[in-house]
Amino acid sequence: MKYNTLNASSRFDSKLSSVLNNSIWCWKPARSEALVEIQCHLPDVPLGIVDKPVWHIARKGSYACSDTWEFFRDKKPDVVWWHLIWFPLAIPKQSFILWLAVQNRLTTGDRLLVWGFQGDVNCVFCRHGVESRDHLFFECSFSSRIWLACLQRCPFIDPNSDWQSLLDDGCIHWKKKTLAGILCRLVFSSAVYNIWRARNEVKFQGHPKSEEQILKLILWEVRNRISGSSRFNKTRENIRICQYWNLDCSVLH
Ligand SMILES: [Zn+2]
Repeated sequence: MKYNTLNASSRFDSKLSSVLNNSIWCWKPARSEALVEIQCHLPDVPLGIVDKPVWHIARKGSYACSDTWEFFRDKKPDVVWWHLIWFPLAIPKQSFILWLAVQNRLTTGDRLLVWGFQGDVNCVFCRHGVESRDHLFFECSFSSRIWLACLQRCPFIDPNSDWQSLLDDGCIHWKKKTLAGILCRLVFSSAVYNIWRARNEVKFQGHPKSEEQILKLILWEVRNRISGSSRFNKTRENIRICQYWNLDCSVLH
């Protein structure tokens, strides 16, 4: 803190230390209202202790990213689908794409049309009709085959569900931190992410992936995520899930 701007020091670049002598204040007589006010508060300033930075908006006084975010963010009520996006073992890049998809904010063909886009907006996979969120996930004949192949290993999800039914079902039944609950959310987010990524690779790079390649990626990611965790109990249901996914039961305890 400089107090030279308050006309209390003879030097323009004076610092607070210039009015301290062996931990005792030695200010010149105040010559302004502002300086009088400052000097009134001097008894409240503890001297002789080591200074330390205090992050006032944090609960513990030290910097925390979460406290800072809570301070600045615009707080709104929780959405019912939040736990489909953010859950233990979630893969952030997939959560982000799913977050956009749930809100229908992916740049699908139907939305491009609304914005006046005049290029090709047909589905890049089946070429049948305008691409939309609901078509890609999973009304499209191409993506529906991938999704059904995923569900063969995930019998907790109704294979006849459309996008909205999947979300409604997920909001009710996929909440738990059980292996089944997390598996459903992982499969869903990984399928949406990898199909959207494959769509972009066709659209922007002209590199189509086969159904088998996309399915392999989804299964690999889900297996990899679960096999890297040791949070699940060795129950009959979890052993059965490990068998569906060719996972070593040693991930259970
Ligand atoms: Zn299609």
